[in-house]
Parts: sequence; structure tokens; C-alpha cells
Amino acid sequence: MSDCIFCKIVNKEIPANIVYEDDQILCFHDVSPQAPVHVLLIPKKRIVSMDDVQEEDKELMGHMMVKIKEIAQILGLENGYRVVNNCGEHGMQTVGHIHFHILGKRKMAWPPG
Ligand code: 5GP
Repeated sequence: MSDCIFCKIVNKEIPANIVYEDDQILCFHDVSPQAPVHVLLIPKKRIVSMDDVQEEDKELMGHMMVKIKEIAQILGLENGYRVVNNCGEHGMQTVGHIHFHILGKRKMAWPPG
């Protein structure tokens, strides 16, 4: 059994507010939203971070990229949105299961902190 919190969400061991799901990926609302809309897009397969993506993950990673615009439509993000991946210690990653934050419904600041 994995102690990974996102694996537990994939396995429906803990609840999440799911926006999109298919056989490979899952998208759900962040428990601590940093924008009016803040969801997390993850592969069901556990890859720890962007630094752990392998050649064999190319199709899965591409599938996630292609689905982002569909998820943005579901969420009504017609004015745009930000996609963020935090990787490792300096990237301030806190959950060791690769995920893309999709944030929207407000104008973002740049540069990030
Ligand atoms: P990171 O800091 O690793 O880039 O992002 C992890 C994100 O996961 C954070 O935005 C945090 O709020 C979110 N998160 C952590 N635990 C849970 C949880 O149990 N459920 C949900 N829905 N989000 C979580």
C-alpha cells in the first residue's frame, strides 16, 4: 500500500472533488485553493516529480497536456489560466506524485515568488 496522498485519491481511499477522470489521469480541486479556481491534474500512475519522468511516460505526459484545454473548458476558464508544476525542494513541491496546478478566474502575477 502506498502512503502517497494522491495515490489514495486515485484509489478512492480519500475523497476529492473530481473534475475529470479517465483511465490514465485524474483532475480534482485543490484542498487549499490559491485562486478562485485551482485544480490539480495528475497521472494515475505514480511518477514522483518532473525529474522522474521517463521515456516510457511520453504518451501519458502528452495525454495530460492535451486534456488541459478540455479541463479548462469544463471549468469555464475562457479568459485564460496558469499551469504550474513544482519540482523538488527548490520548486517547493510538497506532494511526491507529479501534478500540474491549473489556476484561473483571476489575473495572475508574474514573476512567481
Ligand atoms: P505542491 O506544493 O506539491 O506543488 O502541491 C501540492 C498541492 O496539493 C497543494 O496545493 C495542496 O493544497 C494540495 N493537497 C495536499 N493534500 C491534498 C489533499 O488531500 N486533497 C487535495 N484535494 N489537495 C491536496
